[in-house]
Amino acid sequence: MAFHFFKKFPEVSAVVSERKDGSMKVFSEQSEENQENRIRFFAEQGIAAERVVSAGLVHGKNVEITTVHSVTHNPRSWFMCNNREKTGRVIPATDALVTREKNLFLAVTAADCLPVFFFDPVAGVIGIAHAGWRGIVSGVIGETLKKMSVCGAAKENVSVAIGPHIRVCHFEIQTDILPRFAQYEKYVIKKEGRIYVDLEGIVKEQLRVAGIAKTHIETSPLCTFCESQTFFSYRRERSKEPQVMVATIGMKEKT
Ligand SMILES: [Zn+2]
Repeated sequence: MAFHFFKKFPEVSAVVSERKDGSMKVFSEQSEENQENRIRFFAEQGIAAERVVSAGLVHGKNVEITTVHSVTHNPRSWFMCNNREKTGRVIPATDALVTREKNLFLAVTAADCLPVFFFDPVAGVIGIAHAGWRGIVSGVIGETLKKMSVCGAAKENVSVAIGPHIRVCHFEIQTDILPRFAQYEKYVIKKEGRIYVDLEGIVKEQLRVAGIAKTHIETSPLCTFCESQTFFSYRRERSKEPQVMVATIGMKEKT
């Protein structure tokens, strides 16, 4: 089982793994096990792991336009652990990826952060973003849409799906980072002396401001912190070696 998005577009596969699929970290002390989990999960989705390109994740707003050629020739990209080409490449220092190439799967990992999928079925452009609070307030969503339009996407045709993440019920912040949300007061909820932020609300507002129609946005209603049987949660588990889900999107080649 896995969570599928964009079901009305059979030409695209957009999926998030579950806790029972195992941890999918790119960097890990248990990297062999994590790589095996990834290869197995991708295979179940009909995806060859060597066709997967992963974002290195730095909680920033950088977006990389990706092709097989650019990844292979990017001197900064590297193979994951010992399985080398079998596990696909990682592009460092980026939280979002965009491509128009078919049969190239873009991936990010998350365990509370928002995995956000983008698809323009007319132009044939896909994107994926790893959006934690830092990335969200620095603008990774808008930057991903900009790079998609560089690839030919038109905002009126773009659909967006927000995967399972930590919802407002559990995303609590302290006063130290409160000023970072000054622009988004509406999404800051103060309750019984605690402060919560509705990250999904902020992302949806950013999408609307960027011109994405409300009817083109779908959201997973599940909170990674609440659903302990189904998801890993960084905040809930507070483990030194965090376990994570993988989110991936790709356009299947017509056969
Ligand atoms: Zn929750």
